[in-house]
Amino acid sequence: MKTNPPAMHALLNAPALKTYPRERLKALATALFKAHQVTPFACASLNEWVELIKERYTALMSAPLKPLYNATGVVLSTNLGRACLEPSHLKELELLGGYVNLEVNMQTGKRANRCHLVQELLKMLFNAPDALILNNNASALVLVASVFAPKAQNKETLLSYGQLVEIGGHFRAHELLECVTNLRFVGSTNKTYLQDYQHALSPNTTLITTIHLSNFLQQGFVASVGAKELYKLATAHQVLFYEDLGSMQSVPQVQKSLKHAHLVSFSADKLLGSVQGGVVLGAKECIQKLAKHPLYRAFRADKIQLYMLARSLQAHIQGQINPTQRLLAQDSDTLLNKALKLLHLLGGIKATLLETTALVGGGVADMGLKSFGLLLTPKKDFKELHHALHQQGLACILRCDGVLLDTFALFEKDLSTIARVVKNTL
Ligand SMILES: *Cc1c(COP(=O)(O)O)cnc(C)c1O
Repeated sequence: MKTNPPAMHALLNAPALKTYPRERLKALATALFKAHQVTPFACASLNEWVELIKERYTALMSAPLKPLYNATGVVLSTNLGRACLEPSHLKELELLGGYVNLEVNMQTGKRANRCHLVQELLKMLFNAPDALILNNNASALVLVASVFAPKAQNKETLLSYGQLVEIGGHFRAHELLECVTNLRFVGSTNKTYLQDYQHALSPNTTLITTIHLSNFLQQGFVASVGAKELYKLATAHQVLFYEDLGSMQSVPQVQKSLKHAHLVSFSADKLLGSVQGGVVLGAKECIQKLAKHPLYRAFRADKIQLYMLARSLQAHIQGQINPTQRLLAQDSDTLLNKALKLLHLLGGIKATLLETTALVGGGVADMGLKSFGLLLTPKKDFKELHHALHQQGLACILRCDGVLLDTFALFEKDLSTIARVVKNTL
């Protein structure tokens, strides 16, 4: 039954709301009243409205993110914040509470490039001629195409039909490219040959691009053109070859890619294991052009990002292992022991130890990682349990035969807390 909401002044003058910021509550109440017209709230009395608004306000003022235990078996999940960050690096962020030399050279007192250190570290780690850091890898796609094959100048970018993939959250790299360049699709969904690129080249073509297939595999009757051949073709026709490496496979793999591309880019918060960022590596004159384009300013990284990224890169260079690498390096014994430990901590709760398949995630197309999981099969409705565990901060997998806790991406130190969460929920 739909009841009319109270008068605004009656609500705002309620004694229980006296200590709240009145103007902000008014905005909140206005939005609630509007929503009530579409889908009525079950608020009958003024008191119930007061409680509702208090609840909404408290939710808005609570910690922006809450910790979550990842029993989904996906190491790099965009939903769960992708790469876990090194606690010791995070502790240092307190120094950003004051002023910092973000764009000042301490020696000369003159204006400096905020990205200088990160760029030098990238060049060192990847043995790259030059480097640029952007807000994310999506920015890299936009910037590269805007600079080297702008739609406004009628320029074209070649891309294989086989690389029109959706990555996650409805994100399709080619749709992003289409905003700034004329995409010319070549080949077919399953097979693309060098001659397809050759035939598609026109006087307007200035860029050849490949996009990593992300978490999608092509098998069977397929053919694609390797980077080496595309680089040769591009160079022969005086156009650029750019590879979107997505998550990047490994540091040596990127170094190898750099040999056969004018530019490559990848995300900093996937396999590199750092914060959000878009790394662009490649030829000096190409990077310089990117840095001079007006759009570069729209994609620049901020000080928190740059600080964390510099620390991650320094750690890589010094051979330190980050949380993502630590998880991915787990051997079968470690994994089994972790699963057995959780099983033990669950005490009397009925759970079945299963062999499972974990995933790297983050757009890495892998065949799966050997892992172990615990299948909970309570009398309770599985869907309800899955939901309740999420509410308690345990992200897990709903299956038709129970609720699965994949232990691959769980940290040893959290196991007793996780066991407590499960016990309290069941
Ligand atoms: C993840 C991904 C992107 C987007 O990167 P962001 O850093 O999230 O902007 C682009 N291309 C590929 C192939 C990817 O895997």
